[in-house]
This record gives sequence, structure tokens and C-alpha cells, in this order.
Amino acid sequence: MNKNYYQPLSGNDMPRFGGIATMMRLPLLDSAADLDACFVGVPLDVGASNRSGTRYGPRQIRTESVLLRPYNMATRAAPFDSLSVADIGDVPVNTFHLPKAIDIICAFFTEKILAHNVIPLTLGGDHTITIPILRAMAEKHGPVGLVHVDAHADVNATMFGEPISHGTVFYRAVEEGLLDTSRCVQMGLRGSGYAADDFDYSREQGMRVIQAEELWHKSLTPLMAEIRAQMGNGPVYVSYDIDSFDPAVAPGTGTPEFGGLTSAQGLEIVRGLQGLNIIGADLVEVSPPYDPSGNTALLGANILYELLCTLPGVQYRR
Ligand code: MN
Ligand code: MN
Repeated sequence: MNKNYYQPLSGNDMPRFGGIATMMRLPLLDSAADLDACFVGVPLDVGASNRSGTRYGPRQIRTESVLLRPYNMATRAAPFDSLSVADIGDVPVNTFHLPKAIDIICAFFTEKILAHNVIPLTLGGDHTITIPILRAMAEKHGPVGLVHVDAHADVNATMFGEPISHGTVFYRAVEEGLLDTSRCVQMGLRGSGYAADDFDYSREQGMRVIQAEELWHKSLTPLMAEIRAQMGNGPVYVSYDIDSFDPAVAPGTGTPEFGGLTSAQGLEIVRGLQGLNIIGADLVEVSPPYDPSGNTALLGANILYELLCTLPGVQYRR
């Protein structure tokens, strides 16, 4: 098979503000069949509990991603030299019916991405999108390891009586057996809770929970070595909620909590995933109406690029 190593359209061939705003100015394909990894958007916000607007996340992340260049100057990763990557557009969610939207997302990932052994890098969308993605992942790989970066644990049993929402994702995932909980970590958790023991649910399932206060004022590089050891060689899914960052750097999100991560800590987290068997990742909860500067989406685009740089098979130029 002749593989196409698609390259981002260079700013020297078309000004960065020109052309069609696909993720990283990659080609837009209608099938992932021949790819190694794909960017895919899920423009959903009807699972959010407070501020809305994440339906615009994929579009603004693509818009801001036009600044990204192919090579990683810190790690020397050259993802487009050894992986075939493109943007496959958005999942056509049903914005009038959340449970139907969830089924649409799961079927899309199963049939259009995982059936071709392609690694999805997903542009959210509120965090609800992760439950159907995890269902698709576990169907293919069995229970998966999880690196979950978030201000919130998202382990409510229900919200307003409903089992599916952006705050119930990992409770459902545990209940449905989608996770290998001994290989799960939640990091960056903080803020106020419904009850003082809210985060203990995750600990009781065997997950490692690292609250934000344990991360303050520190390099996270040593911690990531521990997390790599915890994950081992098994399949790992990465779910990155932009609200893990401090609202000072990422104000464009629906449930902001102060005392969050710095942008440098976010880069340390993602770069620390290199070497793991990553089977997919998402970047969720970017809500463009709450950050007209675009910086939240730009940070989200950078995290997705850094995630791409850590995937299995990426070559590094020395
Ligand atoms: Mn979340
Ligand atoms: Mn959150």
C-alpha cells in the first residue's frame, strides 16, 4: 500500500490566515481508511451542566491550529514524516437528543475510525463525548488504561437524574467495565464539591487521583515517569479536559475552576506520555464564546498536536 504522508499546508505556500481551516491545515478526507491517525471533531454541547458553547469548539480549534508547524522544537518529533494523518471532519451529532447523539458518536468511532485501525485525536465538544468513544475503544481493545487530566473527576452517578452528561463520564465507564482501573489516573482535580468525599469514589475503584494542589509550583516531568510505569505496555486512552488549566490561561470553558495547571505543566504532561501504547485521545470542553481571544482554542490545538507527537510510530529527528 502506498501511504500518503500528508503535510500541513505551509505558511510559505498560503498565508496562515488564508485557505480552509482544517486541523493543522491538513487535507480534509471523507474516509480514515488509509490513515494511521486522524483528527475528528465532535461539536456537542448539550451534555454540559453550566455554560454552553462547546459545539463551537472543533471549529475554533481548527481556526487557531493554522499557526502550528510540523516539527516539535522541544522533542524533535516529526509526526508527519512517519504517520499518515489527516482531518476527517466532524461527527454529525443529533443536538436535539443527547442519547441518540451518544449512539451516533459510538457508531462513528467504531465503523469509520477503529475499524481501520486508525488512532483518533478528537476535538470536543463537551466531555460527554468521551463515554461513547470509550465504549468503542473497549469494544476493540478490552478495558483500557486512562490518563484523565481535568479540574473535575466527572464521576457523578447521575446529573439532574440523568445517567449521561459531561459529569458522569467516568462513573459510567467504570460501571460498564470500560476501564482497567488499576491503570487509570485522574490529575488536576480541584475546586468545590457536592460532598467532601467526591473524589474518593475514583480512589475506591483503584484509580490514582492527584489533586491540583499536589501539582502546584512543580515540574510534572518526574510524576509522568511514575504514570508511565503505572500504564505499562497496555492500551491507554488520554482524555484531556481544557478546564484542567487555570482559567487565567484557558478562560474559554464551561465550568472553570481556579488554581489550575500552567500551560508549561500541560506540555510536560503530554510530552511525558511518549512511549505509551496510546490508542486514542481527546481534548474537550473548549467553549469559544467565553474566550474571544482564541487563546483557549489555541492551547487546545497545541495539546492535540503534542498528543499527536507522542503516538506510537512517530519518528524523531536528531
Ligand atoms: Mn471533564
Ligand atoms: Mn472539567
